Amino acid sequence: MRHTRHGWWLEEAGEVVPTRPLEGDASADVVVVGGGYLGLWTAWQLLELEPGLDVLVLEAAICGHGPSGRNGGFCETLWGDAAALRERAGEAAALAVCRASEDAVHAIGAWCDTNDVDAWYRAAPLLRVATTESQLGSWDDSIRAAGALGAPDELTALGPEEVRGRCDSPLFLGGALQRLNATVQPARLALGLRAKLLERGARIHERTEVTRLHEGGGVETRLGRVRARANVLAVNSRTAGFPGYRLALAVASSHIVLTEPVPDVLDDLGWTGGEAIVDGRTLVHYTRTTEDGRIAFGWGGGVMGFGARASARLELDREVADTARASLERFFPQLRGRAVTHAWGGPIDVSPTHLPVFASRGRTHHGFGFTGNGVGPSYLGGEILARLALDRRDARTRLALVEPERTRFPPEPLRYAGGSLVRRALLAKDAAEDEGRAPGTLTALVASLPRRLGLNLPR
Ligand SMILES: Cc1cc2nc3c(=O)[nH]c(=O)nc-3n(C[C@H](O)[C@H](O)[C@H](O)COP(=O)(O)OP(=O)(O)OC[C@H]3O[C@@H](n4cnc5c(N)ncnc54)[C@H](O)[C@@H]3O)c2cc1C
Repeated sequence: MRHTRHGWWLEEAGEVVPTRPLEGDASADVVVVGGGYLGLWTAWQLLELEPGLDVLVLEAAICGHGPSGRNGGFCETLWGDAAALRERAGEAAALAVCRASEDAVHAIGAWCDTNDVDAWYRAAPLLRVATTESQLGSWDDSIRAAGALGAPDELTALGPEEVRGRCDSPLFLGGALQRLNATVQPARLALGLRAKLLERGARIHERTEVTRLHEGGGVETRLGRVRARANVLAVNSRTAGFPGYRLALAVASSHIVLTEPVPDVLDDLGWTGGEAIVDGRTLVHYTRTTEDGRIAFGWGGGVMGFGARASARLELDREVADTARASLERFFPQLRGRAVTHAWGGPIDVSPTHLPVFASRGRTHHGFGFTGNGVGPSYLGGEILARLALDRRDARTRLALVEPERTRFPPEPLRYAGGSLVRRALLAKDAAEDEGRAPGTLTALVASLPRRLGLNLPR
């Protein structure tokens, strides 16, 4: 198993020649900080709304080489958050967000078709599975919420045979099917978007780190100053490094391991429908197949931190990758003797509500907090941020994800206790439940701390 910083998807997508760094001063109508999906979709939407607009994208490294180019490629809606949305925003607002997130999943597929970008977009449902008794029914709240919102077909419960008919893992005890979902080759999507933006005339300067934002418009880089009417801040977990955002999000990490092509194993498993699969653990496992017959398997159990303490272990932690590999082999014993070829990881921007946040401070408009579900929702985020930057208000900017009531990570005691203590408790809780035991009282107490404080960490 080769540990790589950027992961297999970017290797498969092929190298790109970085664009020129920005040297000295510049000006633009809108400056977009960050060249992941959110920044790039925002730039795209800005040009859709005003084709003649002068859009400048500044990216610290190379566009799409962060999480956008190395994630699991689950292109999800926000139906999994329907219960939380309903509770926070009410039924009509929750339904509007879920439907807008469906539009985003469809729109990404349509964008790939129209622009001739082969990002391996494949529409297939999301299968939520239970691998322990305690996970059974972990989808019940979402099913109830979808029913209450008048959309009972979005999520349906499945019996064990139905689940194993779709993927025959001996661990699967039951599940639920989320109707609308897709998978993509994430790096092909990010780099395809970068290429189309360059073709369309957006200026993209890579290897250009923004060091300061002017709320009234304009930014500073190490080498100069950019004047602009509006800024868009789309830097994922790095948001916490900008003044005023320190407690707005926490940072966790997720890791993926990938097999060699195993089409025969997929046939044995009966896993040929392209379903993306996620379990009901607190620190979630997620798995999918690829166009060339591999299995990608991820685990959201990496380090956690609060504030801007982004440690190098967020990028790649060998211990976490090894644990993910052991879980892959438990899920699919049929893989015995087959090679696991790659492992990589990256940071996750955890929002206190589990929902992404889009808002403005003066002429700076920001988006963050995808909490491990940014592939689909970042398209919607791009639509929202482009409108905020142009001061256009419509149904998108009225969604409950925009200017939500402010929830921040409390400085104490969670911050003092630190992410590592909470993570240890979550690991111990999941391990106990995997073995069919109830977690100890102290473990259960610490593991429940985030929720008791009103925070909704990754599932
Ligand atoms: C291993 C892993 C698996 C995941 N799996 C899934 C999945 O299956 N489905 C899903 O929906 N989501 C998944 N996610 C999350 C998903 O990848 C993110 O939500 C999404 O990519 C966020 O896009 P973004 O544009 O906000 O961030 P990014 O892709 O991180 O882009 C932000 C960019 O900003 C740049 N930047 C940072 N600071 C500065 C600065 N000061 N100046 C200029 N540029 C800067 C960075 O270099 C980066 O390129 C996963 C994430 C990881 C790490």
